[in-house]
Amino acid sequence: MLPGTPFAFEARVLSRTKERRVLFSDNFRRGESEKSRFSGVKASRLVSSLSDVAWKAFQSVNTRLPEGEAVRPKWAPGPLLKSYERTAPPLGFPRETDSLCPRCVKEVRDAVISGETPLETLMDAHPGEIKAEIYEEGGQVFMRKTCPVHGEFKDLMATDARFLERIESLFFGRDFRAAEDTHVHKHGTSNIKFGRGAVLTVDLTNRCNMMCNPCFMDANQVGYVHEPTFEDTKAILDRAVSFKPRRQIIILFSGGEPTLSPYFLDAVAYAKRVGFYRILAATNGIRYAEDIEFCRQAKEAGQHGVYLQFDGVSEEKNKHRGVGNLFDVKLRAIENLASVGIKVTLVTTIVNTINNDAIGQIVEFAARNIDKVQTIAFQPVSFTGRDEDVPDAVRERQRYTLAGMAGDLETQLDGRMKSLRDWFPLSSYSAFTSVMDMLQGADAPWGWSSCNCHPNCGIFTLAVVNRHTGEFKSLFEFFDYEQFMKDVGVITDTARGRKLTMAQLAMAIMRNFQP
Ligand code: SF4
Repeated sequence: MLPGTPFAFEARVLSRTKERRVLFSDNFRRGESEKSRFSGVKASRLVSSLSDVAWKAFQSVNTRLPEGEAVRPKWAPGPLLKSYERTAPPLGFPRETDSLCPRCVKEVRDAVISGETPLETLMDAHPGEIKAEIYEEGGQVFMRKTCPVHGEFKDLMATDARFLERIESLFFGRDFRAAEDTHVHKHGTSNIKFGRGAVLTVDLTNRCNMMCNPCFMDANQVGYVHEPTFEDTKAILDRAVSFKPRRQIIILFSGGEPTLSPYFLDAVAYAKRVGFYRILAATNGIRYAEDIEFCRQAKEAGQHGVYLQFDGVSEEKNKHRGVGNLFDVKLRAIENLASVGIKVTLVTTIVNTINNDAIGQIVEFAARNIDKVQTIAFQPVSFTGRDEDVPDAVRERQRYTLAGMAGDLETQLDGRMKSLRDWFPLSSYSAFTSVMDMLQGADAPWGWSSCNCHPNCGIFTLAVVNRHTGEFKSLFEFFDYEQFMKDVGVITDTARGRKLTMAQLAMAIMRNFQP
């Protein structure tokens, strides 16, 4: 393994609907003398400078020539997009956006369930839809909307307007328009129009072996068991590969607790047979902690990883879920999963005033356990499911924003993760995958995963960890990702074929590496 092993953080606003990697620093090795470290840094700087000179010389010619023809892959509805062909939603503030009245939503849902209103209403009649205003006030960003029936609603979107402004400015652009999809996308206003998302969440059951608060699913509480049949699940996975762009996505089996489903292993094996390889379970970890044989069977069926519910690094931070020794259960699950080769993503729902004070400790824990933990997914609470009806005062107190999280991490990690330097919209990860799509050529059966979600939805950062000491630093302390994204735009727009693309990619990586 490299002495500096990368791991990733991601954070999303909506955990139920929504979802990272790298380079190395050769000045981050254990046991090096100051002298050899210093000469290593000098050598890296020299390579970086030479790459910069080579890049500029190459581009002085390359950008003057007519652009090459973009690759036309089988999995896509057209030739690969050039940077100027990618569109973007309205961004910046103040702005108006489409929204929903939270009270109308509940009324319409109840009416559909009772049979009073036909389901098609959701597709054709736009029930509950209202306009919302996004605006800055006192250095923060808010959303305000007024329903003619239920009055005004206001909520906090970002505790730091500068943070949101920067993240929005780095949006990479949308993917292809979805094509051959009319049999799948029939959801009215919320139809997916671009790309295909990055995560397909497949709920296997609403049963659970826990009874938490918060619970986005309201598991065990609705008075009936809902479990789609295996045939239903197969049909969902078949539909997921039936339209374009046919990109790799994460298949996330969820619930309730998905491992309680009688056909969990069959569902994993079927997803693998269809062609997906990143097959995950969103789990509380109990089943994996209890039964190492189950872990082996899951790995054999094709399970790639877990999203492990993880509220903090002590019993104290886990006890609100009402299960004794829950932190020990998590540790056992992590050990068992790692021992069979299933990758672990720690998933932390952050509730302001409940556990936001200890999220830095989770990063430190992951870094110390880098041999077992690859990613952390921080998910600011969304008041759905069991928490749909929280009083306004509780919602205002517990609301947590991505800007707040980045600020808390900067403070709790003593400045090692800078909120205005180290975070990027999830979509900007597509800068890397857009080049990989070029390199794999026209005959590839699948496109690379490409998350083009709205920049208000999800952000990511990357850290490099010393496996031996658990020390870590932000990759973006010594890698200029903003410039790298611009360089990728030049590479994909000029489209010079595989060999020159690889050479340019190498130059772009090295010139933006600044030890
Ligand atoms: S483990 Fe997950 S699904 Fe089960 S009750 Fe807790 S939050 Fe809900």
